[in-house]
Amino acid sequence: MKTIRSRADLAINGAPPAFAEPLHVGRPNIGDRQAFLRNVENVLDNQWLTNNGPLVREFERRIAQYLGVKHCVAMCNGTIALEIAIRALGLQGEVIVPSWTFVATAHALYWQGITPVFADIDPATHNLDPGAVRRMITPRTTGIIGVHLWGRAAPVDELQSIADEHGLKLMFDAAHAFGSTHKGESIGRFGACEVLSFHATKAFNTMEGGAVVTDDDELAEAMRLMRNFGFIGYDNVIHPGTNGKMIEVCAAMGLANLGGFDGIVATNRRNHAAYNQAFAGVPGVAVLDYDASERNSHHYVVVEVGGGCPSSRDEILAALHAENILARKYFWPGSHGMKPYRDLFPHAGLLLPNTRAVAERVLVLPNGQSLPDGAIETVAGLFKALSGAVP
Ligand SMILES: *Cc1c(COP(=O)(O)O)cnc(C)c1O
Repeated sequence: MKTIRSRADLAINGAPPAFAEPLHVGRPNIGDRQAFLRNVENVLDNQWLTNNGPLVREFERRIAQYLGVKHCVAMCNGTIALEIAIRALGLQGEVIVPSWTFVATAHALYWQGITPVFADIDPATHNLDPGAVRRMITPRTTGIIGVHLWGRAAPVDELQSIADEHGLKLMFDAAHAFGSTHKGESIGRFGACEVLSFHATKAFNTMEGGAVVTDDDELAEAMRLMRNFGFIGYDNVIHPGTNGKMIEVCAAMGLANLGGFDGIVATNRRNHAAYNQAFAGVPGVAVLDYDASERNSHHYVVVEVGGGCPSSRDEILAALHAENILARKYFWPGSHGMKPYRDLFPHAGLLLPNTRAVAERVLVLPNGQSLPDGAIETVAGLFKALSGAVP
């Protein structure tokens, strides 16, 4: 790894890249390898590979306990978990969502013939602006899906009041928020239900996987049926359904990773503090903060490149990629700017000024267990060279 002291050291000027191996955003955190392999031996010994096996049931118990929630219904991924939750809640017509999220939030609705209606965000929090949500309600609206972006809680209380006032269902996409809190209370307990993703790129992973967590017995029961074709017993189908089952090997990974999760959060938190310190002298570039009074996995290191920086966000991104630092501009251009939704609502952007502004500023930087020592200083050195902080 080379040190970047000035513009002359940059790979865009022909110098070798800072990292021989690419540094990815969302490189998987791999927990206790021996525990995982022992769990997989168990799966093979049991000859029970899927269909609500003993490891999935143990995983559900452990997740419910960790979050302090009554039910965890494990699924094959977060997107199917969203789709099943949306169906179990009976959403239809129009549902209000942020555009500023991973596109799966909107897809899970649109895939089922429901219209995602995009509401703008608060540029300070990147989460839904309750005022904007109110403005998007029509007679066809049946629900709201809040997203806890970057693991920071959406305005849970305000959204619940809006939902109650208008008779709407409220659920949360908590794909970023495993282990986060809102007013000290664990994410997973808000709205009618909350949806988790355990995809490989998330802070806590089961390779692929997801879950819906809820305190509602009936809703949990409906989702258990739906994820298994509506089967109850051997030959009896009592509900329309799909295949949303988590497999045993994924639960084996989840059980092995759960034990190491607090350690991963500690590493992320240290890295985030180091990024904060290293970026203190970079003009026009701000590292997004997490509220010290709430828990957050610190998985996402998000910086915003503002007007005070002489290089544009896209110039910085190109320079980072030349150095093998594969930063991402999540979630540019916003879901409303992606073809299916651009075709549906060509003018949606007019009502999303904050989403559009934030989408032009954001970069997500590498974090996690596999970040090499000294990498943060090298990344900060590049920003300093490009921002004119060093000659
Ligand atoms: C990752 C993610 C999803 C989708 O989860 P998968 O497990 O990849 O299907 C949904 N919403 C958000 C906000 C995400 O980041």
